Amino acid sequence: MDLRFDTVIVGAGLAGACAARILARDRRVLLADAGDHDAASPAAVAALANPLMAQRARPGWRVIEAVAAYERLVRDLAPPDATALAGLLRPAATSVQAEEFAQVAEAWPDLAAWWSADEVRHRAGWIEAPHGALRVTRGGALSVPSLLESLRRNAAATGAECRGSWRLEGWDGDGSTALGTPSNRPLEPFEAVFRTDDGAVRVITRRLVLATGPGFDRLQTLRGVSLHRVKGQVVRVLPSWRPDALFPVSGRGYAAPMDDGTVVIGSSYEHDFDDSAPTLIQSRRLLARMVTALPWLRDAAIVSEAAGLRVTVPGRRTPMVGPLPGHPGVWMLTGLGSKGLLMAPYLAEELPGWLDRPDSLPHELRVVG
Ligand SMILES: Cc1cc2nc3c(=O)[nH]c(=O)nc-3n(C[C@H](O)[C@H](O)[C@H](O)COP(=O)(O)OP(=O)(O)OC[C@H]3O[C@@H](n4cnc5c(N)ncnc54)[C@H](O)[C@@H]3O)c2cc1C
Repeated sequence: MDLRFDTVIVGAGLAGACAARILARDRRVLLADAGDHDAASPAAVAALANPLMAQRARPGWRVIEAVAAYERLVRDLAPPDATALAGLLRPAATSVQAEEFAQVAEAWPDLAAWWSADEVRHRAGWIEAPHGALRVTRGGALSVPSLLESLRRNAAATGAECRGSWRLEGWDGDGSTALGTPSNRPLEPFEAVFRTDDGAVRVITRRLVLATGPGFDRLQTLRGVSLHRVKGQVVRVLPSWRPDALFPVSGRGYAAPMDDGTVVIGSSYEHDFDDSAPTLIQSRRLLARMVTALPWLRDAAIVSEAAGLRVTVPGRRTPMVGPLPGHPGVWMLTGLGSKGLLMAPYLAEELPGWLDRPDSLPHELRVVG
C-alpha cells in the first residue's frame, strides 16, 4: 500500500464516513478508524433526522440546507428503512407549545404542517396528542449501523482506502506548537502515526481531518480544544402490537419504528457519568417516558440497549469545523451533538470547498480553545 495521501480522515463515524465518500471523488483519501466502543454513531442504533428539533421547533443553523443534503444522501445510498424519508410527528406537550408549533408550521410550510388534536385522532390514532401535533414532513429515521456500513462501502467504491483498527496516535510536531498560535506556513507534507495490529504505521499527507468524535480526549493536542462529551442511551423494544402505519415520533425522547417490528427509543443526555456502558434502569426510564405518547408500548419487551458519547461545543449549537490553530494541515470535523444525521451529510458536501478556501468557512464553525 502506498502510504501517501492527499487527505487522511481519522474516524469513520457519520462525520468521517460522509466526508470520505465526497472527498474521495477527486483526492487520494485514507479513512482510518480505531473501532472505539465509545463512538456515538453505532450507539445511535436508529436515529432521527429532525429539522425542527428544539423545544420551540425553530429551524437551527443551516437546517434547510442540511435536510436537503440528508435527502440527497438517502436517495444516493437507498437505505432499506421505510421511514428514511417519512418525516415525523411531534406531539405538543402543552397548549403553549401547541401555539408555537402552529406558528412554525405557518412560517415554514415546506418543513411542517400543524395537526389539531382532532386531526391527529383521525390521521394517526396510534398517538396520544391532546394538544395536537406538528407533522414534520422532511427528514425521517433510519438504522445508523447499516447506514454507516453503506457509507463506508460507498467511500471505498469511490476510491478511498478504508482501514479499521488503526488508531491515530499523533502527527509530526503535534506536541510542539501551542494551540492558538496562528501559522501561515504553506502546507508541507507531514507524517501521521497510527497504532495498528501490525505495529506503528506512518502515513504521509498534507491534510489530516480529525473526525474522532469522543476520541478527542486521547489525543494530547486536542485537550486544549473546547469540546464536551455527553453520554446517550437508546433502548430497542418489541411491542406485542404495533400499528401498521407509523411515523417516527419526537416528543419526550424519540421513537423510531424499525422494519423488523421493533421500536428504538432514545435518548438520554447524561453530562455526568462513570462509564459509557448502557444500564437497564436508563432503558426502563426511556420506555416509561415514551408510553405517555405511545400507550401501546406499555408492555413492550426490552430487546437490547446501547450507549455512546456525543460531542458538543460548549456555549453554541453549531459543530466545529476548520483548521486547528498552530497545526498547519490539521482540521477538526466534530461537535455534531445530537444532529449527526442531519449535519454530517451537509458538512461533507461543503468540506471540499472549505478545505480549498478556508476563508469561506462560516464563522459559526470555528475551532475554539
Ligand atoms: C444514544 C444516542 C442517540 C443519538 N440519536 C441521534 C439522533 O436521533 N439523530 C441524530 O442526528 N444524532 C443522534 N445522535 C448523535 C449522533 O450519533 C452523532 O452526532 C454522530 O454519530 C457523531 O458522529 P461523529 O462521526 O462525529 O462521531 P462518532 O460517531 O463518535 O465517530 C467517531 C469515530 O472516530 C473513531 N476514533 C476516535 N478516536 C480515534 C483515533 N485516535 N484514531 C482513529 N479513529 C478514532 C471512533 O472509533 C469512531 O468510529 C445520537 C447519539 C447517541 C449516543
